[in-house]
Amino acid sequence: MGTRGARGGRGIWAGLGRCPRAIGWAWSPGSLSAGGSATQGLWGCLALAQQRPLLGVAGGCDRRCPRIVSRSQWGARAPKNRVRLRTPVPFVIIHHTEGNPCTSQASCSRQVRGIQNYHMNSNGWSDIGYNFLIGEDGNVYEGRGWSTMGAHAKNWNHKSLGFSFLGSFSSRVPNNAALNAAKSLIQCAVSKGFLSRSYFLKGHRNVNPTDCPGNALYKVIRQWPRFKA
Ligand SMILES: [Zn+2]
Repeated sequence: MGTRGARGGRGIWAGLGRCPRAIGWAWSPGSLSAGGSATQGLWGCLALAQQRPLLGVAGGCDRRCPRIVSRSQWGARAPKNRVRLRTPVPFVIIHHTEGNPCTSQASCSRQVRGIQNYHMNSNGWSDIGYNFLIGEDGNVYEGRGWSTMGAHAKNWNHKSLGFSFLGSFSSRVPNNAALNAAKSLIQCAVSKGFLSRSYFLKGHRNVNPTDCPGNALYKVIRQWPRFKA
């Protein structure tokens, strides 16, 4: 795992796209209700298509984005409050949920609903803490989304996006579907203008006293582009 061969592999990034799904997501009700992100996403798409016609980014569709299950699709509760995130942010922070693994949209949606309930009911937060969650079904689950400040890394929430792998990854790594979805999500964030092109990738343990995102997963992300402890 974490071989150097995967590092900086543009072919890998480019090959991750799923255009029709990205379009479906851009216009999903969940995205529209999340403060105009659908419009921003479309503009980002079109701008990228003009800049990079030879990379296969065409038709107003961003091939770099993974399939994102919207809040309405996973059955989210409405947030009690939202604080706008000033983007593009310079950091992306990786977490694990330390919960059960999931390998289907139904079971991952159930996990995400449980995490949202825990964060809102027990922690007293306004919403699920993470910006996005990543399942071993290969889907990404919309948490607070691109432009709402998260609650995932103390003192870093205002300047980062928090992505969390669903499951516990201290002694095993996430499957390839989840790892590829996460890499794609990072590229998606850059291409949409929510994450700086000169971003740095960090694990939660690099910014707060915690074991998160687990030893096994941490070893993997240390090998990813733009990682900085
Ligand atoms: Zn964490």
